[in-house]
Amino acid sequence: MIDLERRKVLIGAAVSAAAIGVAGSAKAALFGNPDSPAEGRINGKNPTSLNDPGPRNEALADQFPSSQNPPATDVNGMPQFWASFNNVHKRYQNGGWARQVTQADFAISKDIAGVNMRLSDGGIRELHWHQEAEWAIMLDGKCRVTVLDELGRPEVRDVQTGDLWYFPAGLPHSLQGFGSNGAEFLLAFDSGKFSEFSTLLVTEWVAHTPPEVLAQNFGVPADAFRNIPLQQKWIFQGTPPGPLAADERAVQSSKGSPPSSFVWPMSGMSATRQSRGGSVTIADSRNFTASKTIAAALVAVKPGGIRELHWHPHADEWQYWLKGRGRMTVFDTGPKAQTADFNAGDVGYVKKNLGHYVQNTGTTDLVFLELFKSDRYAEVSLSDWLRHTPPQLVMQHLNISAETLAQLSKVRPDTV
Ligand code: MN
Ligand code: MN
Repeated sequence: MIDLERRKVLIGAAVSAAAIGVAGSAKAALFGNPDSPAEGRINGKNPTSLNDPGPRNEALADQFPSSQNPPATDVNGMPQFWASFNNVHKRYQNGGWARQVTQADFAISKDIAGVNMRLSDGGIRELHWHQEAEWAIMLDGKCRVTVLDELGRPEVRDVQTGDLWYFPAGLPHSLQGFGSNGAEFLLAFDSGKFSEFSTLLVTEWVAHTPPEVLAQNFGVPADAFRNIPLQQKWIFQGTPPGPLAADERAVQSSKGSPPSSFVWPMSGMSATRQSRGGSVTIADSRNFTASKTIAAALVAVKPGGIRELHWHPHADEWQYWLKGRGRMTVFDTGPKAQTADFNAGDVGYVKKNLGHYVQNTGTTDLVFLELFKSDRYAEVSLSDWLRHTPPQLVMQHLNISAETLAQLSKVRPDTV
């Protein structure tokens, strides 16, 4: 990076620091603290210590400016907290595809695994269940979901773009795309060890049960099962579903319907918190009652905006980047501070209690999801903390003036 660009980055960092009122000495106002330890390009006086003549994939490297040229305030390293759906295997079948980012290849993601799935018009993800709970957001198109709860109460629903579903661990369900665009959605599971490629499948269980047992179990002749598939279907092309009302009538049970729907119309929600810099929309068990183990926040940050410095006291954060581009810096003891760049389709992860912020580095709105293995969303804001601590105490820590401190918002802004 040429000097002018480097300077811009440094001043950008200084402006962010000043905005939250923690600018200290003259040096820190310009550079933060790259001096102790002397880490970062700012300390490289010999040009040879800064260039990179070795093997290099320019196209890939250019996607990660913050790795090539970290902010001067970054220090030490930490476990990789970036992953992506853009470069993982896609399992295609007639009827759709799926790909996943799990702890198997994203070691830090202990709490949550993610799956991105596409289903054609009529494409079916077969009837199945699994050890983990499943949370989902529709990204495009329409999907008909079916589920049965443990008291035998069925639900069939059509889910639209922007809406959510949640299936508690062990409850059997199915998904089917419909309409000219089919469906695409993001699934999140409350364990990093989950794999969409190893779920409990109705076809496999039936194929591995003796015909006479099937006959006795269902009270029909064994011959009725002569055409069962011998291998799993997983995703397959089916006939597009008929009217929802007909399916609802067909599945009716004398036990009634689940008391809380497993589908949540998030697309119809207004933002939970809104500021000039963007918005945060929260869906957790306090509004989406069924969602007992996954809490979600949909965050939008305007160009030039920042998701303020904060942390989460209750759970790790798993991110799915939906639109735009940005970068996130994570802070840990050590000290450690590391910045990574993110684009649409990428995944981020922040361990419980580690400080972090997200900057919109693009020219369009940045939109990403924050998911937590928890029944509720929770957050501590740095500005909120400093503003609601006795001013004399804060001033003695950060060497800032009473005037600066008074300028901090009394209401936490979330996005700035
Ligand atoms: Mn599932
Ligand atoms: Mn966060």
